[in-house]
Amino acid sequence: MINVGLTFNENHHLHDSKLNGFPCPENPSRLKGILDYLESSDLVDGERCCFYSSEPASLKDILRVHDVRYIDHLKACTKDSALSPGNDVYVCPSSLDVALQALGCVLNSGDLVARGKCTHSFALVRPPGHHAASEASSGFCLFNNSGILARYLQKTYGLERIAIFNIDAHASDGTYSVFEDDPDVLCISVHQDQSTLYPHKGFIRDIGVRPALGLCINMEMPPEASNPEYGIFYDEIVEKVLEKFNPQLVILECGFDAYHKEPLTRLNLTINGYYRIIFKLASKWNVVSLLEGGYHDDLGLLTSVVIRALLGMDNVKDDVDLIDLLASRHAGTRKDFDKNLSNLKMRLESYWGPWNHI
Ligand SMILES: [Zn+2]
Repeated sequence: MINVGLTFNENHHLHDSKLNGFPCPENPSRLKGILDYLESSDLVDGERCCFYSSEPASLKDILRVHDVRYIDHLKACTKDSALSPGNDVYVCPSSLDVALQALGCVLNSGDLVARGKCTHSFALVRPPGHHAASEASSGFCLFNNSGILARYLQKTYGLERIAIFNIDAHASDGTYSVFEDDPDVLCISVHQDQSTLYPHKGFIRDIGVRPALGLCINMEMPPEASNPEYGIFYDEIVEKVLEKFNPQLVILECGFDAYHKEPLTRLNLTINGYYRIIFKLASKWNVVSLLEGGYHDDLGLLTSVVIRALLGMDNVKDDVDLIDLLASRHAGTRKDFDKNLSNLKMRLESYWGPWNHI
């Protein structure tokens, strides 16, 4: 039987920019909305889908990825509001405790799957992590949750092949920087064209460095890309590369800002788009999903869609008329996508090709 374990950091509301006197899209209402939605649905039935409580992570866990001076700087920032933690990041007095609790949930989600207690898991945590590099925070991220989890799984369970797959609309630049030269960790990120969106890193040409050349994959989606383009990218690149790499576990950086209602980005995935990617992924691999971005009102709905896909259930009805949604998009979107996909295949040909047997 497929079962899914959920974790969430109960103290997340103590990380809130309003405590510093200004608003931010990355705020407690995101996770509150998700938890409220799940509570009102019958998905978390205590049998196939359960919440698990988690202990906070330790500094030792963080030090597998982050520099001690960086952690000290963040600590100092929590005590002195005149210090800056980084670009587009805030901290408040309890932020480190919140981040440690979030990381504890992330590691526990990894344990649940690595020990075989759950088939898949989903850590519903904030702050997000995929922009955080070893010595720098940015983009609402303090610590690199997926990187710390991958190092933990290597150390604790001896995993030799881990894949990290980012579907957040923003490039997973922090994760890339941690693993760009690590041949044991495959990083795939599909995100909006980086000439059009923060963090302006993660271009198609960025494929890792020796001895991990070809093991970092960055696909740039043109603005307005939607379910069809994501479907082609998944089928032609992700599935093939994962089959060849054969990971023992997949960490999904699950951002909901590639959604058509997202105000901060220009992608057009619908709930069917998310569902299909995750259903296909979870049908072949054990998935530990980590919440990343997403700053609109449908985070609860999308979380439930991810859980349904992980459980192998049917999706709820997608109310979006895709033809309608795509009718207004720029005529060049599909052409730009085809060009980007050809470019990506060419750059990865010697590592993962040939591509024509798909
Ligand atoms: Zn994002």
